[in-house]
Amino acid sequence: MMQFTVFGNPIEHSLSPRIHQLFAEQCGKQLDYSRSLTSKQRFAGAVASFFRAGGQGANVTVPFKEQAAELVTHLTPRAARAASVNTLIPLGQGQLAGDTTDGMGLLRDVERLVGAQGLPQRVVIIGAGGAARSVIEPFQEAGCEVYLSNRSAAKVTPLVQRFSALKVLPFEALGHSPSEEFNANFCLINATSASLAGHALPIDDGWFSAGVLTYDMMYGAQLTAFLQQAKRAGAGELADGLGMLVEQAALAFSLWHNGHVPETLPVLHQLRAELSG
Ligand code: NDP
Repeated sequence: MMQFTVFGNPIEHSLSPRIHQLFAEQCGKQLDYSRSLTSKQRFAGAVASFFRAGGQGANVTVPFKEQAAELVTHLTPRAARAASVNTLIPLGQGQLAGDTTDGMGLLRDVERLVGAQGLPQRVVIIGAGGAARSVIEPFQEAGCEVYLSNRSAAKVTPLVQRFSALKVLPFEALGHSPSEEFNANFCLINATSASLAGHALPIDDGWFSAGVLTYDMMYGAQLTAFLQQAKRAGAGELADGLGMLVEQAALAFSLWHNGHVPETLPVLHQLRAELSG
């Protein structure tokens, strides 16, 4: 049986094994997809022993995406620019390729959510971690102006050098009413891990009422603190990161299974039902 895993910490609530089982059922494949809890010190060793034992692919989640980008022998150009890897592909003879499907996964989900309305002109991403970095390029290539806002400003500087059209929004600006260019036609994305810890962000209500879509990469049965605030403030459409999770998984699946891209919508509906049931 083909062996896959996801490395993370914490990892017990990861839905990746369930998603990949549902994708495999769609195409009549059998696979074993496990969860691997590890630590910063043990990550490299755990990855090496998984692939030595015949593993055919692995995902990487919080907090190992940057470490994974440093560990692999081959990085795809998009993973190199994002300095983030969420998908590991064995190349044989101890060689390992790393790619990131997070950004394309989010873009596909946002395209689905906005439908015929089309992508907004501007996208504001809060955060500068692995997930945030991997979404800059796909949205820029899709024609959006991308703004990045991060609590630690120092993390944004190297990104401006790497992604030339990237615009910076000082984190403090989120605490005040948005300026004119954010009065309409923009999408606000929470790519911080604040929701994971149950924390809200210091953000003025005005940011929610003006956007066409408010998105939190975090997902769960309950609205995150960020989405709760957005709802109270009268935001338009709200979305959590479940759709992104399914889309990034579908892209990883295709990297491991000869380019076969599974259908994502039935899997998203099933997971949503399971989460709220
Ligand atoms: P990282 O640990 O790499 O980055 C965390 C980011 O969050 C940093 O920019 C950090 O800012 C910021 N941050 C953390 N706490 C706060 C806070 N209280 N206030 C303001 N900023 C804060 O995480 P990832 O980029 O890997 O993941 C980010 C989130 O996205 C997680 O919740 C993760 O679960 C989710 N995710 C969802 C996916 C999906 O498919 N739905 C895929 C990937 C990620 P600073 O630099 O100042 O520390």
